[in-house]
Amino acid sequence: MKIMTIYAHPADTITNCGGTLALHAQRGDEIVALILSHGGRIHANKYAEEWRKDHPDDDIATAGLDDIVANKKNELERAADIIGIGKVITLDHEDTYATVHEDVVEEIAEHIAAEQPEIVICDHPKNPAYFDPHSVATGMALAALSRAGTYLRNLDGRDEVPVRQVFLGGLPVFNLDALSLGGVRNDCYIDITDVVGTKLAAMDQFVSQGYHGVFARKLVESYNGEAGRAAGVNFAEAFVRLYNETHSHLPVTDAALAADPLTRHIAYSAVNLRGTFPVP
Ligand SMILES: [Zn+2]
Repeated sequence: MKIMTIYAHPADTITNCGGTLALHAQRGDEIVALILSHGGRIHANKYAEEWRKDHPDDDIATAGLDDIVANKKNELERAADIIGIGKVITLDHEDTYATVHEDVVEEIAEHIAAEQPEIVICDHPKNPAYFDPHSVATGMALAALSRAGTYLRNLDGRDEVPVRQVFLGGLPVFNLDALSLGGVRNDCYIDITDVVGTKLAAMDQFVSQGYHGVFARKLVESYNGEAGRAAGVNFAEAFVRLYNETHSHLPVTDAALAADPLTRHIAYSAVNLRGTFPVP
């Protein structure tokens, strides 16, 4: 199976679904990460910290956009290797974009058609609640999926796309059942407990934006920990499926059948994250 992720910024793929991707890489699935912007302007922590010093290192404090982007690409390549992402495609658009661009939609559609993924992963378009590059990236990704879906061999010289499901991550709700909050919820959780150290090691590469070390552990403890609480596991990544699923019978997962209602909250609190994976 082939999975394609489509995200706004270099680190988004790892922070949003790095654990899920590591699990798929482990079982031999092919993973392609498409990243729309070079991410040179967001989270310039390393550079800001340097130019605030009394005696800054000039190489860092006066780094130009090309240097910053090159460094971020190196960080991304190392993180992708750790996760098992086989191919990274960076479109290198400015990360200041505020709206959908037709030419970027076409660019994404062409990559989808070329890569032929069965699964696409991107941000939930309602994450977060305001209009930002992540929502716009998903708007363009979904438009590109529709466009790639119209490619016909006789008209365009290329095959139709085989995308079967789109998993939207990052919807900031953790309600436990479909009856609360009018039913707005993540409807699919992946247990990333076994690969949480891999996700941390990948996040530890993003030093220039301060996503390494204590931030990586804070994010995984809080965000993946809370998703895990909803899922009944130590750490999880949450998704909303774009398309309905068809089953031959009513589906109940192995995890639901295996869960012990009396000890569930103890079982999903068993991993001491910072003890097991200390800040390097
Ligand atoms: Zn981002």
